[in-house]
Amino acid sequence: MKFLKYFFYALITLASLFVWVFPQLLRCFCVEYDNFLEIKPNIFVEEKTSKMQQDSLIKYVENAKMRLKTFWGSKNGQATIIFSKNPKTYQKYAKTTEGAGFSIGTPLGSWIILNQDGLNVDVIAHEMCHDELMTKLGWWKTKQEIPTWFDEGLALMLDYRFVSSQDSIQRYNDYRNEVSYLSAIPIPLNELNTQKDFFGHGERFTKIAYLTSAVEVSRKISMKGKKEIFRIINKTEKEGKFEF
Ligand SMILES: [Zn+2]
Repeated sequence: MKFLKYFFYALITLASLFVWVFPQLLRCFCVEYDNFLEIKPNIFVEEKTSKMQQDSLIKYVENAKMRLKTFWGSKNGQATIIFSKNPKTYQKYAKTTEGAGFSIGTPLGSWIILNQDGLNVDVIAHEMCHDELMTKLGWWKTKQEIPTWFDEGLALMLDYRFVSSQDSIQRYNDYRNEVSYLSAIPIPLNELNTQKDFFGHGERFTKIAYLTSAVEVSRKISMKGKKEIFRIINKTEKEGKFEF
């Protein structure tokens, strides 16, 4: 009986700790009980989102899925989409006010949180690409092995906000030009391995970090084709070691 009591206390403590450390995770799990409507399976919009925005979201999600399929060959990620029309709600779910979209990936599920600026194909395809990579490798391997620069650089291959060219060599040149406008010296990749490295030094640094990452990934694609990217991902999946 005593054991049961301690077990119960331990469980409560663990659950409280979980909620305290990851409040936004709990919110994502319970999105259907918050002020959201499920307008399609796994697509939630905040209450009072206009019909026009709802229709746009559905259309953009479909287009983003097509973009994923074209690049990856298939789409296996099942992230739930949460659209917050109110910036305060976005902050509650994404734990940040920055950016137009935010992905939360866990071993128990994935969520893509969007604000008004995220209501477009580029942002949705970008976040879906993060989810696709995690779905392919699993949560642990992605967290342990995949450097943030690769994850972000890859997502930019499906996000045409900085560079829209579809020709692989042109895309690489355009990214190189974009980064050279902002910085004469590129950031070394080994300084962009973690989320903190990447996002923790202000807006300008993060923009250079995005472009630097996209230069690296697009360079590989322009030289060896997309198949080289999938060879690297498959090798990471099999051997548990990322080598670019
Ligand atoms: Zn990203």
